[in-house]
Amino acid sequence: MERVTTIAELRARVARLRAAGATIGFVPTMGALHEGHLALVRLAAEQADEVVVSIFVNPAQFDRADDLSAYPRDLAGDERALAGLGAAAPVLVFAPEADELYPRPPATSVRVAGLGDHLCGASRPGHFDGVGLVVVKLLNIVAPDLAVFGRKDRQQLQIVRRLVADLDLPVELLAVPTVRESDGVALSSRNRRLSAEERSTARALPQALGAAVLAARRARTAGEELPTATLREAAREVLDVPGVEVDYLEVVDPDGLQPVTGPLAPDGVVVVAVAAHVGPVRLIDNVEVGDVPDEERLLDAAG
Ligand code: AMP
Repeated sequence: MERVTTIAELRARVARLRAAGATIGFVPTMGALHEGHLALVRLAAEQADEVVVSIFVNPAQFDRADDLSAYPRDLAGDERALAGLGAAAPVLVFAPEADELYPRPPATSVRVAGLGDHLCGASRPGHFDGVGLVVVKLLNIVAPDLAVFGRKDRQQLQIVRRLVADLDLPVELLAVPTVRESDGVALSSRNRRLSAEERSTARALPQALGAAVLAARRARTAGEELPTATLREAAREVLDVPGVEVDYLEVVDPDGLQPVTGPLAPDGVVVVAVAAHVGPVRLIDNVEVGDVPDEERLLDAAG
């Protein structure tokens, strides 16, 4: 496993791997790696001959300077975690400085209209434009056969799917289910900034999603339609605890992530998505309701 910091070197290394006949899998991250990231790397290693992992805290997707500077960074720890994957360890870690990717302020924007404006886009203006820009840049630099993203960042995943389709980018996208702690809390680099008490409070997020899953399951078992408002309310009640400040709690469709207003049919699928501030950290989570594997995983973890 080698660390590469320049675009030119990364391209040269990848060209050599390709010349030797290898397929390339790519996992973009912002570092402070945890088991969620490692699950993405493992899938990439299963599906491609060689894996490239990028570690880059992308300034373009932060709307607040304090959030950018507080974002955890631990390149040495990240490289140890990746090396610990053994046979699944990436061949290259691409860890450029910000100046390497942004030698000048970019005049080009990558904006996926409709998908990026609500949910996290509403409270983090410009965030998804920054995500779109860096994803297109990284896909152009690495030119992988496949790239792996997490369903934890569901809106980001849908945006990347859409921009890859719209721009005919020659890459296959794979998505990994959210990896959770034993108490249901989704793994996140930002969890490192929670105190023990805040970490405990954060359980309200998966528990709220679990309440929505159970409400939907009850209706499904009874063969009944479930009003979206009832589904949402089941989750919202659980979030009504001290220390949790809800940013949004929405019931949306799985592709366009637009608000669903009509009732959920017994065979319907929706995504329940939440963002909430707990202490200094803004946490996000979501569950696909009606999709049994996703539901099971959440309920197993959230108890
Ligand atoms: P980040 O470093 O937060 O930008 O995340 C890099 C990639 O890891 C994204 O595709 C995320 O969706 C994914 N990811 C982050 N946390 C998790 C998790 N708990 N489970 C699965 N994927 C995750």
